[in-house]
Amino acid sequence: MLQHHGASTSHSGIDIPAPEGTEIISIMDGTVVSTGWGGAGGYTITIQSEDGVYEFSYCHSSPDFIVEPGQKVVQGEVIGTVGPKYVDGPANNPYKDSTGKTTNGATTGCHCHFTLRENGKLVDPEEYLKDALEEEKGGII
Ligand SMILES: [Zn+2]
Repeated sequence: MLQHHGASTSHSGIDIPAPEGTEIISIMDGTVVSTGWGGAGGYTITIQSEDGVYEFSYCHSSPDFIVEPGQKVVQGEVIGTVGPKYVDGPANNPYKDSTGKTTNGATTGCHCHFTLRENGKLVDPEEYLKDALEEEKGGII
């Protein structure tokens, strides 16, 4: 089931609360641009659509990436999983919570932070994903 309830648009993207290990699926056919540490976004997977118009990122994901840059993915394909709240890496991770433990970017708990760019400009994913969010099954966007 889609775990979309509780998503908010308070910042650049949407937050989808989900337990660690929840599968993340690609919203479109495309090519993986990057996987790695994304600062405030924590471990992040970024994909560009086939036509080059859209670029979308899944933040706070698991550092155990299952796709790699240059890899082609298809809509609905599992491309990663929601990461843990706390991570050991990277070396100079400035993000910590009140316990002093280093976190998976600027996050207060496990969730998928999804951002969407259209021709390089950040847009509100909910506008674009309405249909997809209603139709997709088996994972979060
Ligand atoms: Zn967020």
